[in-house]
Amino acid sequence: MDKLRKDPMQHLRQSYQVSNTKYGNGQFHDIREYIFDLAINSKNYETQYPVKLIRLERVLHDEYKSGRRILSYSEVRDLASKISDFPITDEEELNLFLRYQHEIGYLVFFHDIPEYIILDPQWLIDAFKCIVTVTKFQKKLLVPYFEMWQEVKKTGKISYQLIKAIFCSQQNNFMDHQDHLLAVMEKFDIIINPLVQTIKSHVNSNEETYFYIPWMMKVKETEVDKFFRVKNEFKSTCLCFNFNFLPPYLISHLIVSCIRKYSVASVHKQEGLFKDCCVFDISDNGCTKLLLIKYDNLIQLQIWQWDKDQPCQYKEIFNFIKGELKRIVDIRYRMTTVSFNEKWKCSLTSYSYNCESSLNIFGEMRDGDNFYCGEHGEDHQYKDDWFGETSKATDTLNDQQHNFARLSMVVLDILGSVLYDRFDLDKNIGQILHSRDQYDISSLYQEHYKLRKHTPSKGRWGGGRIADDVLPSHTCIGDDIERIRLIRNEMQHSGKFALDDARYHILITIIQDMLNRFDHHNNPAGDSYVNRLKEIRKMELTPKDFEDMKAQIQKESSTPHQNFADKIEYHYHF
Ligand SMILES: [Zn+2]
Repeated sequence: MDKLRKDPMQHLRQSYQVSNTKYGNGQFHDIREYIFDLAINSKNYETQYPVKLIRLERVLHDEYKSGRRILSYSEVRDLASKISDFPITDEEELNLFLRYQHEIGYLVFFHDIPEYIILDPQWLIDAFKCIVTVTKFQKKLLVPYFEMWQEVKKTGKISYQLIKAIFCSQQNNFMDHQDHLLAVMEKFDIIINPLVQTIKSHVNSNEETYFYIPWMMKVKETEVDKFFRVKNEFKSTCLCFNFNFLPPYLISHLIVSCIRKYSVASVHKQEGLFKDCCVFDISDNGCTKLLLIKYDNLIQLQIWQWDKDQPCQYKEIFNFIKGELKRIVDIRYRMTTVSFNEKWKCSLTSYSYNCESSLNIFGEMRDGDNFYCGEHGEDHQYKDDWFGETSKATDTLNDQQHNFARLSMVVLDILGSVLYDRFDLDKNIGQILHSRDQYDISSLYQEHYKLRKHTPSKGRWGGGRIADDVLPSHTCIGDDIERIRLIRNEMQHSGKFALDDARYHILITIIQDMLNRFDHHNNPAGDSYVNRLKEIRKMELTPKDFEDMKAQIQKESSTPHQNFADKIEYHYHF
């Protein structure tokens, strides 16, 4: 219970009772004293604030007074460098100033979306209001958009086009800054872009882009199994992530993670996406589906499989979802007090049934054992769907699996060595180099990041979705280190452990160019990287190689350095 009561964001809390009918209540004095005490004991007390920063503060205030509400980063940099007597030319110093001003609520600036500085938080709130209370502006919208809005109210899915139309209908200059506004709204969870970080987004033009507004998904569907006409025998044991505290929009983020990996299933032209619930197609023929549904403090998973004889890796799905949950809780919400465990309910369960005594612990029962089900008041046979025999190994490889195995081998073997050899050359005097097997790509990336011997051409580390996002003209060592990280990520996040021919050839070309450069930079002992690539491309691969590669690339993700690049961004997430 103590854990539940604890504030997940660890705010400072103290209660005072204040009367709004009597004046001169001594409580105000106490509150003042309390805050004063906190301030004196805080780390920043009596820190000096340089004069030049005060000057810059004034310059920005003058801009505000002249009617400006948003400035580009380069404008602010110019203004700062032109302050007479005290110009600020150091970008680090400027960033520090902006972060501090953001912290105290004077302006809005994010390190990871630094393109613009918003001088007036109210301007931002007004932009948010357009999306949040759009009904107010409906009359100003043209006919096609008006109809689109009706659809948004049902599904919570809004197109980029409609957002543009809404911003257009406003007096403020939201239109000119819509991309930045959307990025900020994503940061505040007002909208979620399901296509970020996937290859899909690469082919999508802005016109086709859409977002989810999580709190707006209104249609509930607690009997989603009936909607999809799932027979009882097709349902797996229901796996439940049982939370001590479940943040309200966590399920939306999880659904979005899954949309990036699987496609949303539909029946009778109706998508299986509802409030707090979504059904995905796991197999290409649609005969295996995954249900994700929230109820109370439970996130429930069930697999529906019409073709039970086909192998399906339930455990991989479980690992993926669990990994995403951890990522969302630790990195997105940064809530250290939120925790969850895994339990199971019988396969015929009602998704709105949550009774502590009917949640069972995994590992206590074997496949086929009988158990008494408290929910139905009868006995059933336990099916060890999630961690048992249902997952069969593949016995022949198709082309896409070949591509996946081959490219994983290139990534783990050659690209890993490239980073390792480079680290050996760059390491500081006295720095210890462990043997190659002590590092994976994440930890090597982290070492390079810490060394700071190289920087990507764009000027900062992290970001990007796929290797193609690094511009072809960017070919310094820092750029190639980023490419290696992005290629590794793409392989690791490949849901089906398959890679189509087109994508395989694009990646091989990128890798080949990169290895040519690294043969020159690193001058590796023994065979050149390019020759090693040739060898791997000629190799015959067996199903066992495929399984090994799958296991190894998954192991990469479970290292303590997992998602390090994500963390770099969130570390500076003020
Ligand atoms: Zn039952």
